[in-house]
Amino acid sequence: MRELLSEADRLGVKVMYRKLDGKDGYYDPQADQIRIDPRLSLAQKRSALAHELGHAYYRHDCSTEIAEAQAWKRGSGLAVHPDEYMAAAMVYDSTQLIARELALTSKIVGEWERSWLPRLMRAPIFLERYGSYMINTASS
Ligand SMILES: [Zn+2]
Repeated sequence: MRELLSEADRLGVKVMYRKLDGKDGYYDPQADQIRIDPRLSLAQKRSALAHELGHAYYRHDCSTEIAEAQAWKRGSGLAVHPDEYMAAAMVYDSTQLIARELALTSKIVGEWERSWLPRLMRAPIFLERYGSYMINTASS
């Protein structure tokens, strides 16, 4: 949560907890505010905040399919740390269990697996650190 809140600071966006109807979170570009529903679980709050920070990064002022996709991609990159993901992935073999371990929703971890994991798997530093693990799991 702390890393997400520092990203909000960097973007100059205030994070507030407000009961929202039918939404987990909301980004208001006019007020430079993100509102998160306080009734959510920690995993839902963290995931919603990361997603809304994605909207804030692009200063989205409406919700289109493209804006949503950008917010999920950027947000998942903020929420999921590669080392924490890999530590969880060495123990758990489903997105749902990895998400639970990371205190995030399956939706945002699934997005990270689609958007960021394939790129990381081509990065030399990532291969150096986790290459032998990935070869072992691929052959098992
Ligand atoms: Zn959205």
